[in-house]
Amino acid sequence: MNLTLDQIQDFKGKYPKQIWSLFFSEMWERFCFYGMRGMLVFFMISELKFDDEKANLQYGATQAFVYAFTFVGGLFADKILGFRKSLFWGGLLMIVGSLILATNPHDFFFLGISFTVVGTGFFKPNISTMVGKLYRGDDSRRDAGFSLFYAGINLGALLGGYLCIAIGKGEMLTNIIPEDKRWNVAFGLAAIVMVISLINFVFTQRRLGPIGLMPQKIAADGTLIPTEKWKIYGVYALTLLFVPLIMIMVSVPQYTDYFMWTVGPLTLIYLFFEMSKVSAPERNKLWAALVFIIFSILFWGIYEQSGGSLSIFAANNLNKDLLGLDPNGVNNSGGAFFIIFLAPLLGLLWIWLSKRRLEPNTLIKFGLGFIFLGLGYYVLFATRFFADLQGVTSLNIFTIALLVITFGELCLSPIGLSIMTKLSTEKLQGMMMGLWFLASAYGQYVAGIIGANMATAKEGSSNMDALIAYTEGYKQLGLYAVLAGVILMVISPFVKKLMQDVR
Ligand code: GLN
Repeated sequence: MNLTLDQIQDFKGKYPKQIWSLFFSEMWERFCFYGMRGMLVFFMISELKFDDEKANLQYGATQAFVYAFTFVGGLFADKILGFRKSLFWGGLLMIVGSLILATNPHDFFFLGISFTVVGTGFFKPNISTMVGKLYRGDDSRRDAGFSLFYAGINLGALLGGYLCIAIGKGEMLTNIIPEDKRWNVAFGLAAIVMVISLINFVFTQRRLGPIGLMPQKIAADGTLIPTEKWKIYGVYALTLLFVPLIMIMVSVPQYTDYFMWTVGPLTLIYLFFEMSKVSAPERNKLWAALVFIIFSILFWGIYEQSGGSLSIFAANNLNKDLLGLDPNGVNNSGGAFFIIFLAPLLGLLWIWLSKRRLEPNTLIKFGLGFIFLGLGYYVLFATRFFADLQGVTSLNIFTIALLVITFGELCLSPIGLSIMTKLSTEKLQGMMMGLWFLASAYGQYVAGIIGANMATAKEGSSNMDALIAYTEGYKQLGLYAVLAGVILMVISPFVKKLMQDVR
């Protein structure tokens, strides 16, 4: 089926057909990613015998590098490989990483993880960019499409995050998996789903028309010059060189600090260099994209307490008054659970509002994202009013906070993907998407610092002291989030000018 771009973008109804295929490839990739991420800390502590602090630092480093590599993956896609080849290469690396872990997770742990880190960098931004390509520039159904896609992300995250660790720990399928093979099977599952993701993508490609093909130069006589083979193989070779480099970088926690402090300024300098080559209106749009990217760092910095301080809070300060569920289980997967149902609904709401010319623009959506995030953190603060004398409080109230925070995420995260595809110039789509994810690497980094500062309740202090200390911290974060939302709305006229025709 040789579709043209017009045929793809002129779709009837709410969603382009191809979005479902990209949804499934991304769903399985997120299964692999979150499955592995969910096993990391536990595996390092229980199997590799790392102490808690070392395991957590290494986990943080892995997260930082994963999202930092999205910039590299996006950049090479723009310049040489195109989105399809990049995605495929990333997927292959993720399969290799998972297979290494499935074969011998104890001896080759960091080798397997490093393959996965680089692979994710090539896969993740480029599939998101392709979703954007299914729409014309002025199509108001784009945010709804990204919301649907975001539901797929979270479906994969929920399944992978639950199944892999449950198999590894020996809480599932124990009658068919021998005890000494549990971790191999758990990592192997990540490899299998990644194979499914790529097979699905092979079929998807047939219906993508020209979307995601390699970038081509045009010669003076108008003929297309294909990308030189050596460049393509050069990227593959370079990528493989990154793998041992990451192994070294992840192994020493200080390296992550150096990396984070240098990579941000370097990418910005590179962005400014690229910005100097485009027309003034295009440059203004890229400035606007940068505003969204910078705000997103603060958003993720607050939001990502879920993996850090909130998981300690859930373990020590929450009861089981919600259907007897485990508070950490709710903290880990409650958000993804809500998103699977709410994201498509919110997407339909955007379409409904747009038909009535009432759809809020991206700035307002981002502002709402921060305000919901802030309100959610105020609800976390309010858990202290439901505590017993031991400092143990209600999981029900905590879950309400999670729901409010999730609304915030849905107003910001899928909308951020969407706006990147609208504001980037044709030749910088992958890089800008990479930059969007790089911002979440910084968000995670900031989250770790915030969480560490909040853990003021020292050893020997009571559970009640911890409750007071954490909830006080959450109140502060709530305030910062609401303030950020208000600032965003105040500066919106200036950003709107930069965005020109984009809404
Ligand atoms: N949870 C989303 C995903 O996995 C958002 C990640 C992010 O931007 N930090 O895609």
